[in-house]
Amino acid sequence: MDKIIYLDHAATTAVSEEVVNEMLPYFNKMYGNASGLYPLAVQSKNAIENARKKVARAINATPNEIYFLSGGSEGDNLAIKGIVKANRNKGNHIITSKIEHNAVLETCRTLEQEGIKVTYLDVDSDGVVNLEQLRNSITRDTILISIMYANNEIGTIQPVETIGRIARARGVIFHTDAVQAIGNIRIDVRRSYIDSLIMSAHKFYGPKGIGAMYVRKGVEFSKLIDGGHHESNKRAGTENVPGIVGLGKAIESVYNNFYAYNRKLIDIREYYTRKVEKEIPNIKINGHRFNRLAGNMNISFENVKGKELIQELGGRGICVSAGSACNTGQIRPSHVLNAIGLPNELAGAAIRTTFGRENTREEIDYVVGVLKDAVVKLRG
Ligand SMILES: *Cc1c(COP(=O)(O)O)cnc(C)c1O
Repeated sequence: MDKIIYLDHAATTAVSEEVVNEMLPYFNKMYGNASGLYPLAVQSKNAIENARKKVARAINATPNEIYFLSGGSEGDNLAIKGIVKANRNKGNHIITSKIEHNAVLETCRTLEQEGIKVTYLDVDSDGVVNLEQLRNSITRDTILISIMYANNEIGTIQPVETIGRIARARGVIFHTDAVQAIGNIRIDVRRSYIDSLIMSAHKFYGPKGIGAMYVRKGVEFSKLIDGGHHESNKRAGTENVPGIVGLGKAIESVYNNFYAYNRKLIDIREYYTRKVEKEIPNIKINGHRFNRLAGNMNISFENVKGKELIQELGGRGICVSAGSACNTGQIRPSHVLNAIGLPNELAGAAIRTTFGRENTREEIDYVVGVLKDAVVKLRG
């Protein structure tokens, strides 16, 4: 196939060249096991601690509050199961929302089978959690509130600071899945009263299979993986040194260029959205028109099957997704689009485009042209 136009950055991103270059020596030159005591090992240990500082700085945490692990899914599992297990004496209730990533929802379902009570909060038509319902759901038994920072399908940004304030005032631990937010939103875990947060490098131009968890000092959590005493005895396993180095470089780089990157994404998103609105009739924008992640747009094209549209675009080198990439293959309506009140028909007609660093207006011109032709063809 000739040139690919990649509009699926919420699913994953290409590793940037500067990140690759930073990682390379750690595969075969500086390959020491960070637990060793000789210089080759100390070199690895230092590289890990250097990356830990970069992650901490990016979210206003301290390095001893950062733990490296394999990514967002492991992070949500460790945060939620780990916090619940360590705080079981406090109660048996957790609160989350209906639009969380499956890494959170499935973790909650597993806990339900173990006797934990879970409240799934509603969201409004923009995808914002119902704060009144949140306040009313907290009981003396509530251990944890887990609400994502920003949604992966419709880009909605939650009122995280308000949620954090409510949680802290009621003595409840607040975890947030910030996998989509990192790099796209300035995050300050202190100002937002966040007790636990997870991120995944492959969503911001870093490598796959590496992530980090922040847990505020003083918040107890149990480990999931037993073994050596790595990561302050919270996550056993020889450290993925190249991955950790890559994560550190990626987060530093994305926040060093934050404003230019953010403006660029908004420009591309608005260019795409206005063009679609102008050229294609009978569409519906899903999520809030503006209060969303800079690089996210989600549009339903009435009387079209999303899967067929994606295949038409795919045949022309354009990569987009329906709702969430984690559900590919399965054609069941997205739980997020259902939660914001979309009927199945419109939910099944949704296309998510998520823009990135390398996208251009010229690409968007081509994409909207292809989209228009495909919609006409499929409606006909
Ligand atoms: C991608 C994603 C995850 C999963 O992260 P992995 O590192 O791929 O396991 C979790 N939550 C959200 C919101 C995501 O977008």
